Amino acid sequence: MKTDRRLLGDAAERAMRYLESLGERPVGVSSEAAVRLQHFDTPMPEHGRPPMEVLRDLDEFGSPATVAQAGPRYFGFVIGGALPATVAASWMATAWDQNSALVVHSPVAAHLEEVVQGWLLDVLQLPGGSGVGYTTCATTANFSGLAAARHAMLAKHGWDVEAKGLIGAPPIRVVTGDEVHASVLKALMLVGLGKDNIRRVPADSQGRFRVDQIGPIDDHTIICAQVGNVNSGASDPVGEIADIAHARGAWVHVDGAFGLWAAASPALADQVRGVDRADSWALDAHKWLNVPYDSGVVISRDREALRASMTVTAPYLVDGGEREPCHYVPDFSRRARGIEMWAALSSLGRDGLVNLLERCCEYARMFADGLRKAGYEVLNDVVLNQVVVVFGDEARTREVVDLIQKDGTCWCGSTTWQGRFAMRISVSSWATAAADVERSLAAMVRIASAKRS
Ligand SMILES: *Cc1c(COP(=O)(O)O)cnc(C)c1O
Repeated sequence: MKTDRRLLGDAAERAMRYLESLGERPVGVSSEAAVRLQHFDTPMPEHGRPPMEVLRDLDEFGSPATVAQAGPRYFGFVIGGALPATVAASWMATAWDQNSALVVHSPVAAHLEEVVQGWLLDVLQLPGGSGVGYTTCATTANFSGLAAARHAMLAKHGWDVEAKGLIGAPPIRVVTGDEVHASVLKALMLVGLGKDNIRRVPADSQGRFRVDQIGPIDDHTIICAQVGNVNSGASDPVGEIADIAHARGAWVHVDGAFGLWAAASPALADQVRGVDRADSWALDAHKWLNVPYDSGVVISRDREALRASMTVTAPYLVDGGEREPCHYVPDFSRRARGIEMWAALSSLGRDGLVNLLERCCEYARMFADGLRKAGYEVLNDVVLNQVVVVFGDEARTREVVDLIQKDGTCWCGSTTWQGRFAMRISVSSWATAAADVERSLAAMVRIASAKRS
């Protein structure tokens, strides 16, 4: 097959130039670059044009309108960059263009999913033999985990939910912490349990589920716990929740989008002690594992419950009796996410992964110390990679966040924490070095200490 080497070479060149620019370009997007996006506002073209021109347009008008999330000083949301090995693997995998629904579609995609499954359960210290599915994100991982929970809860009461649906089904009660992530609400909405049908258990000052307030739990209950609060980084006491739940026949699902990674580090594992006693887990790879978007993982201790909730058969879908990737996720056809996860874990190794996680947490403490020293109030106990800080009253904090975003040295988002408007710093990129933290801290303090506009 003929390949356009000039085109692919040009793409690689442009991508490398882009990556090399990330250390110095402003992290946010200038209003000028945003306006230049209008270049793309054309009617659907009647005739095609050379791929080289298409790529040039994308780079010239697209690249400047990207937020430098892959760079070293993006601290908004919990985003993470993409490790070099994963970018390279992703290019390779795009060239392969493998559909990963079935083993027969792509032996390599299916095989690497199995390898990564074993590695993940090992590094995260989750029960061997758990079912693992590769989803687009933590939201679909939460959805999938809750689908497995729904299956298991109703099967126990003699109801086949995949066959009969929820109409007329035995009741399911959902209990969450008060700090439940919006994605779990969305997942509850999708899985037919309803986002308003939940009992919220009060949270403590760090946003953790208060086990002493757990209330009635029975064998109709699904409890949604969380490790890694998006603001404070704090984790629910999952072990204690699981002990109560299991004594009463309930299911515990854990939203561990980024926080579950703490289980891989001896220094951080204490934060998520007992998380292995839950029944299902949602995890992101595109956040703290630093693989390219999109990449999430669902894990279910009861492999068959996950499989039953996600499997349909049709005569043309050959089931080879092996682990068929599509039996563990909502999608059939999809990209081969296991490839980049394999590349990340292979290139890091256990020690590299631990170092990445612990380095991010150390940088979060550097931010917190530096900001406190400069006289600003840090609102959370900095136990993981998250810092929540205020620069005065709400109006002043809003102004400072806005100025920090416009300044371009780094990028941080805002939040409301315990009723106070605040700035949120998330450190989750392999690319961040101590010098980036110092440079970003200096910019924050310079901006926050300048005279009010
Ligand atoms: C980011 C996040 C999610 C949602 O993850 P997506 O990958 O964006 O779907 C869910 N829960 C928590 C705690 C998160 O931090």
